Amino acid sequence: MTDSTVTRRARQWLAGANLRPTRQRLCLAELLVGDGQNRHVTAESLHRATADADMSVSLATVYNTLRAFCDAGLVNEITVDGTRSYFDTRTDDHPHFFWEEDGRLTDAPTDSVAFERLPAAPEGVEISKVDVVIRLRKS
Ligand SMILES: [Zn+2]
Repeated sequence: MTDSTVTRRARQWLAGANLRPTRQRLCLAELLVGDGQNRHVTAESLHRATADADMSVSLATVYNTLRAFCDAGLVNEITVDGTRSYFDTRTDDHPHFFWEEDGRLTDAPTDSVAFERLPAAPEGVEISKVDVVIRLRKS
């Protein structure tokens, strides 16, 4: 894969959400979608990836940029343990495996989860989304 393919993918991804391709957004977009694969990252793991790629981006900027990507609908946020946020470049509804041992979040097969029934939403609100996180530990 050439560098220009990576950059082109990143630019198209940002353009699809009408986000201006600033240097930092482009850096992070290249790491997130440059290879055409979906991934699940935390601000910390993406920040480490920028350092590994010799990009100089602060953790705060990584965090704020992920928020902006999330607001623009480019990534989905999945919260585990109420505090840990993962950002997923795959934005359709799908279940996740959370690997307790090393804190990884990966996709679970979509056809593996079926809801017979959901609780009725309280009056005046509707269910906007159901997040499914299946926790895994060594058996
Ligand atoms: Zn996912």
